[in-house]
Amino acid sequence: MAYDKDNIFAKILRGEIPCEKLYEDEDTFVFMDIMPRADGHCLVIPKTACRNMLDATPAQLSATLKTVQRMGHAVMKAFDAEGVMVQQFNEAAGGQEVFHLHYHVLPRHDGIKLRPPGTMADFSELKDHADKIRAALG
Ligand code: AMP
Repeated sequence: MAYDKDNIFAKILRGEIPCEKLYEDEDTFVFMDIMPRADGHCLVIPKTACRNMLDATPAQLSATLKTVQRMGHAVMKAFDAEGVMVQQFNEAAGGQEVFHLHYHVLPRHDGIKLRPPGTMADFSELKDHADKIRAALG
């Protein structure tokens, strides 16, 4: 399947639509998920085009996973979490809805369930959560 350069994350990378940005480096970009399933739920994406894990290059995968690890530490610190969940979906049948490679990073606490999918964030709360993560990144 071809990469669609007008997918929503490509538009975020080009600055055409807003996001609550947390971090970027030469190869990767991180922002808050607008329908967070846990407080601090964020998304890590490569800056270059690929649909998902299946067409990503080794360089895209390694850069993105390096940032996933960094964000895992940051969200755990920011939310005093006991664990971190990383999710990544490939093609519609694999649960993917946005076709630009992304990893979900979610801080987790013992006994606290995820919120159901599709619940839109309160934007002032999302910004507060982003501030905590940005502070934890240092
Ligand atoms: P999936 O492709 O199944 O991993 O799901 C895409 C994820 O992107 C969902 O968790 C959505 O809440 C999230 N999402 C969709 N649009 C945006 C957006 N404009 N900003 C931030 N997150 C988004």
